[in-house]
Amino acid sequence: KVIQFKIITIFPDFFKPMLEYGIFSRAYKKGLIGFETIDLRDFATDNYKSVDDEPYGGGSGMVFKPIPLGKAIKKAKSKKETKVVYLTPSGRVFNSDIAKELAKEEELVFICGRYEGIDQRIVDLYVDYEISIGDYVISGGELAAMVVVDAVARQVKGVVKEMDSVVKDSFYDGLLDYPHYTRPETYNGLKVPEVLLSGDHKRIELWREKMKLVETLTKRPDLLERAKLNDLQRKLLKE
Ligand code: SAM
Repeated sequence: KVIQFKIITIFPDFFKPMLEYGIFSRAYKKGLIGFETIDLRDFATDNYKSVDDEPYGGGSGMVFKPIPLGKAIKKAKSKKETKVVYLTPSGRVFNSDIAKELAKEEELVFICGRYEGIDQRIVDLYVDYEISIGDYVISGGELAAMVVVDAVARQVKGVVKEMDSVVKDSFYDGLLDYPHYTRPETYNGLKVPEVLLSGDHKRIELWREKMKLVETLTKRPDLLERAKLNDLQRKLLKE
């Protein structure tokens, strides 16, 4: 089964570049993933196509009305098991574990908020996951949806040609990636680490494992506490 991404948004064109560039676009064109935008305005019930209204209780900004959004969600879900994701700063902060979990689904519907957000009753009735892309506020859910959809798609088999490179990416095993080098051997006086030129694959593997630990220890020690280390990594950490 091919995973289907469905995005409810007032700006469907925002997503065009995703289907034009890079790995996501290639996977979409090959039929490895499904992707569809749903224009919230198509579900407006008045002649002005309005999908937002003033907040009850007063205050600034507008809120997405529940009726058009509810209709759009019902239209987007092709089966009742489909999970609905609302991108919001109030959600769980997105990470690799959530990406892997979502990649197991057959269909995911994403709601992109704008203005002050969406009517809470939509969250209460239909939303399975509230996801944040970090502790800051952006102007709309579209960029957040792109981040989540791209990260989830990378976990789907075949999307990244070599699964090996996904497994070695940062966070897959809870650690940061090791440093990468390419030609030339010397750049502005800086040499490529000697081990990488040795052709000794065992030594190279060991160096990379070590560097992952060094990188994580120096840049994100918080990750080490949660990472599930293998025997080699535990041994290297003691050294
Ligand atoms: N009033 C909201 C609050 O303080 O949480 C912020 C609304 S924001 C201006 C408009 C929309 O952008 C939100 O409904 C949400 O869909 C999206 N958004 C903003 N920041 C986000 C984040 N960190 N993660 C995910 N979505 C975000």
